Amino acid sequence: MKFEEARWRELGLWPRWSLRQAPVAQPASLLPEADWDGLEVSVASCRQCPLHAGRRQAVLGTGDRNARWMFVGEGPGAEEDQQGEPFVGAAGRLLDQMLKATGLKRGEDVYIANVVKCRPPQNRTPSLDECNTCLPYLRRQIALVQPDIIVALGKVAAHALLGCEGALGTLRTRQHHYGDIPLVVTWHPAYLLRNPADKRKAWEDLCGARQRMSANPCTPHGGSGDTATT
Ligand code: SF4
Repeated sequence: MKFEEARWRELGLWPRWSLRQAPVAQPASLLPEADWDGLEVSVASCRQCPLHAGRRQAVLGTGDRNARWMFVGEGPGAEEDQQGEPFVGAAGRLLDQMLKATGLKRGEDVYIANVVKCRPPQNRTPSLDECNTCLPYLRRQIALVQPDIIVALGKVAAHALLGCEGALGTLRTRQHHYGDIPLVVTWHPAYLLRNPADKRKAWEDLCGARQRMSANPCTPHGGSGDTATT
């Protein structure tokens, strides 16, 4: 048996399948050179961790693939699993408000992804193993987008991208890098829905991100109800 076949059998992916004139699905760990088509096919057919069993569909990401801003959350929820797009539920609407407050808009110079691409059952937090197994997909997305800044939304994204542990309240006060890309840590919108008092801190984090991107400081928000601070 060839080494390659043995590897695929070990991963439970033999016999290998392929689409006519389409990229061949590869497990995340074998994706250093995948283009967007290859990434989409691989994620859609991935069964590398137990999360595949409960998904309606894998959710790769959405937005401008040449964006300067990249936002990374935890994993798809029920609505994301149904619609195939990250951050489309209540947390997604809050993220859209946070983007607007930062002078950004979903799909315009913004790319949004999650650490894990399949919905965890009952929306539980993905395990460390699940995050680590799925992480090569996110790493490849970052390599393809080549953003100027990454915003990690919540502890799972921060820990996965920084390769460290720590309280989010501490991580968000520090300046980080993913490789040579500036990385800002802030609260996940789902957390902010449960803890609206921390929206002010999230607003400050995004102001800090904006300042790291350019000399343009954030203007004080007037409290119209369409930002993360209200
Ligand atoms: S969560 Fe990631 S590693 Fe797990 S099955 Fe889905 S795409 Fe594959």
